[in-house]
Amino acid sequence: MTNARRAAALAAIGQMPSPLGHFVNGRSLLGAGEGFAVTEPASGEIIGTVCDATEAELGTAVAAAKAAFPKWAATSGDKRKAVLHKIADIIEARAEEIAAVECLDAGQCWRFMSKAAIRGAENFRFFADRAPMANDGQTLPTPDHLNYTTRAPIGPVAVITPWNTPFMLSTWKIAPALAAGCTVVHKPAEWAPYSARLLVEIAQAAGLPDGVFNSVNGLGETTGKRLTEHPDIKAVAFVGESKTGSAIMRQGADTLKRVHFELGGKNPVIVFDDADFERALDAAIFMIYSLNGERCTSSSRVLVQASIHDRFVERLAARARNLKVGDPFDPATEVGPLIHPRHCSKVLGYMDIARADGAAIAVGGEAMAGKGYFVQPTLFTGASQSMRIAKEEIFGPVLTVIPFTDEADAIAKANDVVYGLAAYLWTGDVGRALRVSDALEAGMVWVNSENVRHLPTPFGGTKASGIGRDGGDWSFDFYMETKNVALARGGHKIQRLGA
Ligand code: NAD
Repeated sequence: MTNARRAAALAAIGQMPSPLGHFVNGRSLLGAGEGFAVTEPASGEIIGTVCDATEAELGTAVAAAKAAFPKWAATSGDKRKAVLHKIADIIEARAEEIAAVECLDAGQCWRFMSKAAIRGAENFRFFADRAPMANDGQTLPTPDHLNYTTRAPIGPVAVITPWNTPFMLSTWKIAPALAAGCTVVHKPAEWAPYSARLLVEIAQAAGLPDGVFNSVNGLGETTGKRLTEHPDIKAVAFVGESKTGSAIMRQGADTLKRVHFELGGKNPVIVFDDADFERALDAAIFMIYSLNGERCTSSSRVLVQASIHDRFVERLAARARNLKVGDPFDPATEVGPLIHPRHCSKVLGYMDIARADGAAIAVGGEAMAGKGYFVQPTLFTGASQSMRIAKEEIFGPVLTVIPFTDEADAIAKANDVVYGLAAYLWTGDVGRALRVSDALEAGMVWVNSENVRHLPTPFGGTKASGIGRDGGDWSFDFYMETKNVALARGGHKIQRLGA
């Protein structure tokens, strides 16, 4: 079965043009730019070549999005809703194929990707249902004027996404943009570009008009940069590293781009001694070792109250040792390979950093023998919050445990990072949960829970973890301009200058 899934993924890629170019204005555009190889993380084998968009190709994609914008923006919300639901239908029908492609080029495990594809469909359904209300505003009357607001789509937007869960993350951005009435130029990550091609073809098959959704492949420093600098792109929705976010902000400065950034994290899980020990353990393990640790909201630091520290560490270590690492297509696999040799070296570099800083490697710490970019699930103990392994985003199956004494110490340690994306808090004391949640510098706090996404709620980070929020109406606020109309009742006094 696992071989059959891999074969299905290879067949899906095999049906795409080779080298893979772009998808612009409703049709495949063969790339004329330089090709780059895409490798399968589990084997290290090259599975295809993809073209970096030339400046002219990028220009064609933006021009298509610009030309399609007025008509799509004027399309009724009900019509947009219908097309977006159709996209969701096709995603559901092809969920296995999408999941297989994610396993192949992103190295993510089947057990998680099969659900991620379905979540991609849910993202489309959620925003489809809200499309008819996207333009709605508020009424803000005064005795002299009736003020009312309306919203209109901002224009063609760029969506730039990373490789960690490429399909799901793309839908999360593209669905609200299309529901709002924007047109899109999507640039997927160069290390895992194939599911993006499936998505744009699915959208086309669902009846999305030509040019509304375009996809260009390429490298960040060339295609990504040009896209963010293009004067006809009105906003950039970006998911990726914090330093890339800074670069995009600089690149977009001259054309005053609106930006929405979902960036890195070094998210704490705070476990108090009055917590449900077993559930906290399950959640901490799940949030760092699932998705190969390549997850922005991963629980990469566990802060454990000193009184239960040793017992918790012992149980964490036993679980980490027992994780099933291997073939991402095998449904039993819990941890797959890292995306790329470069990322693998970065993650392995933290083993030396941990030793040099004086932490202990209780579990793992090595690359795994054999082909592919596998790293042993790793647990750092004896760490302190001042160490680099406690402050920097590693983005691999690597967990750092740090003890704390009391509430104040836990809060100080949790906040002592440049990031502020998610925080997880485990306690049986409701008052403490409220106090600590208030004090945590994070865009999202989960109390007695792992990351459970509810689409109407805001998703996003503070500090170096991002700007803006996704979800619910927050997404529409980003992809739309708000206009206020003040309508005089006719009786207010107007100053009569020069009368
Ligand atoms: P990355 O920043 O290297 O790349 C992301 C995308 O940006 C890619 O498509 C890349 O080609 C493009 N890019 C790179 N340089 C660019 C430039 N100068 N201009 C325009 N585009 C450019 O990130 P990555 O390594 O692909 O992904 C991992 C990172 O993503 C981690 O830091 C992770 O925390 C973050 N992430 C955040 C969230 C969130 O919701 N906060 C979700 C997933 C991943």
